[in-house]
Amino acid sequence: MHTQEPMLTLDEATVRFGRRAALDAVGLDVAEHEIVCVLGPSGSGKSTLLRVVAGLQHLDSGRVFLDGRDLGGVPAHKRGVGLMFQDHQLFPQRDVGGNVAFGLRMHGASKAQQDVRVRELLELVGLPGAASRAIASLSGGEQQRVALARALAPRPRLLMLDEPLGQLDRSLRERLVVELRELFAELGTTVLAVTHDQGEAFALADRVVVMRDGRIAQSGTPLEVWQRPADEFVARFLGFEN
Ligand code: ADP
Ligand code: MG
Repeated sequence: MHTQEPMLTLDEATVRFGRRAALDAVGLDVAEHEIVCVLGPSGSGKSTLLRVVAGLQHLDSGRVFLDGRDLGGVPAHKRGVGLMFQDHQLFPQRDVGGNVAFGLRMHGASKAQQDVRVRELLELVGLPGAASRAIASLSGGEQQRVALARALAPRPRLLMLDEPLGQLDRSLRERLVVELRELFAELGTTVLAVTHDQGEAFALADRVVVMRDGRIAQSGTPLEVWQRPADEFVARFLGFEN
């Protein structure tokens, strides 16, 4: 039994676009090794939440702490967090290895170090030997795996995934979710993932956070949220029509 400081803390985090708050005084703690899935309808502030932690979106008020350190003023590339977007944005003109090595070069790894790490990562995501393949020759699922390897390359302690499996068909998604859970456990990665697929969230998460209009409507284990939705909004969102 250990009680420890949360790895990530958002304190009254607020982002406004015009008069509208995309994040409205959000408070959230994520423990080390925890896998948290953020669920919610389109426009509820899920991506903004990740972008704030990644340093890609400025806060109007409130604070973000990582390992107890206030991230205010810390640029994105110095935060030690990885972010994988829905449309994974691979570089089509580079091969698989070049894509995976991208973040390593930025961190000053030598060519030899990069090659070793790329080989390890491609094995990890189930694409051994794919380093010299062209991006265009990969299936959608393979491209998602490459994007994941690229996000994992700098060994982020906190990995954030924005709709990571959004473009894949259901059967592939279900398989990848199981693999991802094992992978994160093995690496000890803390994960904050956005999805609008409940099945995915419930299969992947230690904890589910449901967002509505820039606020957290409920936070709990998948079982708690499923059995005791906090209010009618959460219940309806989960599909309990009444
Ligand atoms: P989600 O990821 O849950 O779909 P977002 O975080 O992308 O939601 O957006 C939350 C709200 O903030 C939405 O109303 C969206 O239109 C608005 N928003 C997000 N980014 C911007 C932006 N760069 N400029 C203006 N409005 C934005
Ligand atoms: Mg989004």
